[in-house]
Amino acid sequence: MAKASRQSMKAGGKSVKHVYFFGGGKADGTAAMKNLLGGKGANLAEMASLGIPVPPGFTITTDACVHYFKNGGAYPTGLKQQVEKALRRVEEVTGKTFGDPANPLLVSVRSGARQSMPGMMETVLNVGLTSKTMPGLIKRSGNARFVYDAYRRLIQMYSDVVMEKAAGIEPKEGMGVRQQLERELHAMKKRLGVKQDTELSAKHLEELIGIYKRTVKNALGKPFPDDAIEQLWGGIAAVFQSWNGKRAISYRRIEGIPDEWGTACNVQTMVFGNMGDKSATGVAFTRNPATGEHIFYGEWLPNAQGEDVVAGIRTPNPINEAGKTDDTKHLASLETAMPKLYTQLDAIQRTLERHYTDMQDIEFTIEDGTLYMLQTRTGKRNGPAAVRMAVEMVREKLIGADEAVMRVRPDQLDELLHPIVDPAAERTAKPIAKGLPAGPGGGTGQVVFTANDAVAWKKQGKQVILVREETNPEDVEGMRAAAAILTSRGGMTSHAALVARGWGKCCIVGAGSVEVDMASRTFTTNGVRLKEGDWITLNGTKGVAYEGKLPMVKAAEENPDFVALMELTDKSRRLGVRANADTPADAKRARAFGAQGIGLFRTEHMFYGAGSDEPLFKLRKMIMSSTEAERRAAVDELFPHVKADMKATLEAMEGLPVTIRTLDPPLHEFVPHAPEAQAELAGALGISVEALQKRARDLEETNPMMGHRGVRLGVTYPEVTEMQVRAVLEATAELLAEGTRAFPEIMIPVTCSVNELTNQKEIAVRVHDEVCAKYGVKKVPHSFGTMIEIPRAALTAGKIAEVVEFFSYGTNDLTQMTFGFSRDDIGGFAPDYIEKGILADDPFQTIDTEAVGELIDIGIRRGRATRPKLKVGICGEHGGEPRSVWFCHGVGMDYVSCSPFRVPIARLAAAQAAIADKRAVRPAAKKKAARKPAKKAAKKKVAKKKVAKKKVARKKPPRKKAARKKTRRKR
Ligand code: PEP
Ligand code: MG
Repeated sequence: MAKASRQSMKAGGKSVKHVYFFGGGKADGTAAMKNLLGGKGANLAEMASLGIPVPPGFTITTDACVHYFKNGGAYPTGLKQQVEKALRRVEEVTGKTFGDPANPLLVSVRSGARQSMPGMMETVLNVGLTSKTMPGLIKRSGNARFVYDAYRRLIQMYSDVVMEKAAGIEPKEGMGVRQQLERELHAMKKRLGVKQDTELSAKHLEELIGIYKRTVKNALGKPFPDDAIEQLWGGIAAVFQSWNGKRAISYRRIEGIPDEWGTACNVQTMVFGNMGDKSATGVAFTRNPATGEHIFYGEWLPNAQGEDVVAGIRTPNPINEAGKTDDTKHLASLETAMPKLYTQLDAIQRTLERHYTDMQDIEFTIEDGTLYMLQTRTGKRNGPAAVRMAVEMVREKLIGADEAVMRVRPDQLDELLHPIVDPAAERTAKPIAKGLPAGPGGGTGQVVFTANDAVAWKKQGKQVILVREETNPEDVEGMRAAAAILTSRGGMTSHAALVARGWGKCCIVGAGSVEVDMASRTFTTNGVRLKEGDWITLNGTKGVAYEGKLPMVKAAEENPDFVALMELTDKSRRLGVRANADTPADAKRARAFGAQGIGLFRTEHMFYGAGSDEPLFKLRKMIMSSTEAERRAAVDELFPHVKADMKATLEAMEGLPVTIRTLDPPLHEFVPHAPEAQAELAGALGISVEALQKRARDLEETNPMMGHRGVRLGVTYPEVTEMQVRAVLEATAELLAEGTRAFPEIMIPVTCSVNELTNQKEIAVRVHDEVCAKYGVKKVPHSFGTMIEIPRAALTAGKIAEVVEFFSYGTNDLTQMTFGFSRDDIGGFAPDYIEKGILADDPFQTIDTEAVGELIDIGIRRGRATRPKLKVGICGEHGGEPRSVWFCHGVGMDYVSCSPFRVPIARLAAAQAAIADKRAVRPAAKKKAARKPAKKAAKKKVAKKKVAKKKVARKKPPRKKAARKKTRRKR
């Protein structure tokens, strides 16, 4: 045993409690003590206190483990005595004695951290079996084969875990002691001509034990310990050591589990499910984890050990008749094979679920007709099951509405919204490429490399996946036609990602391993070469591509549980949720998903995709005009298209606010490059192709993202703003006259100064008066606002708010301008930044709260200081990302706006932020405030609210695994 140190002595000399007993209906610990006892230990204690039969045992705390590491492998003072005392209590409850030749107690020694780390740490079973205790056990069990088998398993596990791994021995490849013992077992089976371990008799196993002992001594230079107490302490040390094993360390890195937590160690009486026909073992869930259905669901095996159920060597039997499938209907259920024990188990599972108020994942063993519970923990579930359980548990009054909302992770909702790759098929499929999960869901199809091919193949009834280096607006029809999109470049705000997300289409961008060769119409990735027409499958939720055609599982379109959950979220959230939508179809979809308005209507989208030929041609005429007269003529031609487009979307939203943004992109993006298109345009303008090409060259910019775009176009070409404002207001006036409600919000992009807005507002006011005169009305309801997407705008928000009624944060550009990272080119260095820990996340996906967030906060405060009722929202891609939504709630925005398919996710995240906020305000503090005189109390409440908001802003929702991201954007 390691040396005890003095470090854990409390002042006053009283020893700290390091060992917590459980069993016989009593326990020192509770479920609330997960940090100290680990998840497993805390739940074992809780079950014992509930009177549920658990094999008695004790838990050594995580603190003891931490101490062990801090003190070079020394146990804290008093641990030895506390373990001995707990062992005596276990002996009293079981009536067996550890190391006793007549009636020996055997124990398992298992790890158990506060967060489950499945399979990452070590376990030693059957501890306490020695040459001295074996005969007694054989006598009592009457089963020599069973005892020898248990002993040879102990030797195998112990020599590997304790004597080799924990001792830091690193054997040569294939020479580990476990492998050497496996070879001996294999050799014996070969010699005897048998296939299964179970075919070895007691005599064979006895002989094998002798071989094992010799092999261990030869391999490790030490004999296998024949003393129960030595085995126990060896096991405890090995469990602690396994916290710092390679597997555990890398798992912690991936899951973000701190190294300082340490693991607890559970020492528990062994119970055997393989003692004969009256023994069994099983794993079950209190509800079906795949569907959420409220039936007791699980598997069991007669005469077997726990690992046999999970190892997949034998097909387990269904636990009850209700859980039988076509594949398992011929197998006996526990319900029919052992009805009394099943009834007892069923009652226990009900108690556990009621007690924990959540679906439990349980493990049990039946030893010779007696049932024992070995574990209970909150069960993992998929998205549809999570939603169904949450809403049904509210109906059953097991949990409240807030709790139900908190139970579903935003990414689980995603699973309900899109068809997904069949998880069973995906498990065995080989990934060929990884990229950014830009558009969720799954897609399968034949590879095509051009947008035209995508459209043409689709017309022939084929299902295609468009594979490109990157996409640009001209590919939009092909993207629409494709079942999914895969690009080798681009980030989460790249053109492909933005468009795909808007349509709810599966899309992976920035899959760096994909090399497209247009000449041969092939692409290679990680050594695989695929040609046009080959089938591939994408999982856009994970960002993984597979070769071949994997089956899809259809998402529930009109899932009543989903609808019910969404209703619950709406009761709790404070933030409004709008959608970024540019067409009546998107607007309708957004409303179906619960959007309360449109937060960003990008006018330029009418110049891409189906039916855009005519307006695009007219826009090009406008761009290529060289005089104001020419431009005015072109603008007048464009006007009816713009007006019709806006009217259709306003109409679809029936009075819900629609934020219409004036033209934003640099004009050169619309310049035609194809010779025929250039010739046609030159003809329409009455100029030569050379002259047109010169005008196009004049429009080119070195840094278009910081060039002649957004409000700058409106300042230099006031007639362009005028036309757009007129289109919005006339469309609104006409709808109102027709009896359809409509409310536009005119939004000016890329502003950096109040003077730009004063300039644009003058135009808007003048046009408004003209429209009123034309339609004979006093006013056309609308509001006038700006995007805040340049740091200067955020810092001068106090002045800007004098002129505008609302702000909408364009966090795509604001992130670009704050970091100085190009939206287009971040892919070149972002992976290194994330890998080296310089950036925790891709700031184009999750708001950087430290700086971009600070600017947002400053902008809101300064803006509202000028105009207290200033409406504030966000329409950058972050508006649909759960952690960013929490942030937006925390800084007091009025709404978030995101692509239609992310609306439900934003609703959920907004509700969760509000509930977390509510839970963070302590009831005691509330009561105090209520006793103050009315005015003071109100003031205090506001102050407290501010503090709470701040807290939430900084408090992030549970993070998903940190993925290595590559981001690039092409507008
Ligand atoms: C933004 O910059 O966040 C924004 C919404 O505008 P766009 O992405 O169109 O530049
Ligand atoms: Mg922008």
